[in-house]
Amino acid sequence: MFSKILIANRGEVAVRIIRACKEMGISTVAVFSEADRESLHVSLADESICIGPAPAKDSYLNMTAILSAAHVTGAQAIHPGYGLLSENARFAKLCRESGIAFIGPSEEIITRMGDKDQARRTMIEAGVPVIPGTDILESAAQAKREATRIGYPVLVKARSGGGGRGIRLVESEDQLVQAFNTASAEAKAAFGDGGLYMEKYLKPTKHIEMQILCDRHGNIVCLGERECSVQRKNQKLLEECPSPSISQELREAMIDAAIRAGKAVGYENAGTLEFLVDRDGNYYFMEMNTRLQVEHTVTEMVTGVDIVKWQIRIAAGAALDFCQDDVQIRGRAIECRINAEDPSNGYRPSAGTIEMLHTPGGPWVRFDSFVYQGYRVPPFYDSMIGKLIVKANTREEAIRKMKASLCELVVEGIPTNGDLQLEILSDPRFEEGDYYTDFMEHLGQ
Ligand code: ADP
Ligand code: ADP
Ligand code: MG
Repeated sequence: MFSKILIANRGEVAVRIIRACKEMGISTVAVFSEADRESLHVSLADESICIGPAPAKDSYLNMTAILSAAHVTGAQAIHPGYGLLSENARFAKLCRESGIAFIGPSEEIITRMGDKDQARRTMIEAGVPVIPGTDILESAAQAKREATRIGYPVLVKARSGGGGRGIRLVESEDQLVQAFNTASAEAKAAFGDGGLYMEKYLKPTKHIEMQILCDRHGNIVCLGERECSVQRKNQKLLEECPSPSISQELREAMIDAAIRAGKAVGYENAGTLEFLVDRDGNYYFMEMNTRLQVEHTVTEMVTGVDIVKWQIRIAAGAALDFCQDDVQIRGRAIECRINAEDPSNGYRPSAGTIEMLHTPGGPWVRFDSFVYQGYRVPPFYDSMIGKLIVKANTREEAIRKMKASLCELVVEGIPTNGDLQLEILSDPRFEEGDYYTDFMEHLGQ
């Protein structure tokens, strides 16, 4: 087992990983930008090193600075968290070449699955259904031909996209050429890669993803699904486990598909296969995230499996000590992402000082966060300031517990999306579990 791990991230995920390390008796090294000196991950870690100025590209994405910090402190492994360098194959490679374990899959797997059109091809080979779509598009003219074949509406998607960005809806042929050109330019600017592919736009549809854990001894388990259909601008807002709307038969089929996919790529560590599921219960592979997922918490709550600890153990060479038959889902869990966003300004991210903070408690209530009273939320990073997670025996009880917890949560000084989350939980369609990815467009109607 490692004795010291460097956490190449910030915010709640850095805190989450540090907590796992502490429980495992592993020393921790935090890295931080000049804007994050007062951040909780810095004070919780055993050691900390400033790696550069506030903008992520100069600090949290500065691979050389992070690797130097690992060498100077003698860290044997790096946990990349999610976002930032977590799906960067070059970083995984640099870690390996400098004798540091990257807590995640190999650079080959990251490359293969990070390239979203290549991932589609891999899944087709593994016999996993994919969304009707294309390989990489060479030109707008080719895009036009393909869209006619697939049938409108279509989505033009960036091969290297992520975080809900780089996706464009095209409803008819006259919009295609312009959408293609602007999407390509935008993807090039945002991800350094203008490569585009296209998929049929499925609607109504549910976003359901499967969590897998694979060790390097060939053991693989699927920890069931997460329902992530509550989204705004293709970004998840609320997640639950299990999904309220898939049958046991479909669940088992998707577990089989996830395990088949994991085996087909020789996957190692924790990974998530994202699927779209239509009204008739057909499921289609969308993409694989080769990292820890923001919403991994809901899976932990109902399975009792600590996913971050297993990521660390697997990277250290340990074998999974349980098998698929041991995986049992007990109860229902819900997570609400608490974002520093201004409801009176179109939910734009809002920085500022937290004047007053009270966090909810009680049985099966978990608040994963890095903020504290007096903390100044910097304007440079993601707007998520915490995740509120609850678990109960029934879904109805979990919804009531989440509502009570949201009401108890007090954040003063900066606006948050707390009231929006309450609105979601009170929506009749949400209560019935009968909702799709377009749910937010119809909220309150
Ligand atoms: P999850 O699928 O785990 O819910 P998200 O897609 O919401 O994760 O992304 C997790 C975090 O990583 C978010 O902070 C998101 O903004 C960021 N992120 C994900 N992919 C990218 C990317 N390609 N470029 C920049 N940020 C990204
Ligand atoms: P990202 O890498 O940004 O997470 P995804 O490919 O996972 O991108 O898509 C993000 C979201 O966009 C999905 O959760 C889903 O709501 C929507 N989406 C993506 N592809 C399709 C599609 N073909 N049809 C309908 N909705 C889609
Ligand atoms: Mg996705």
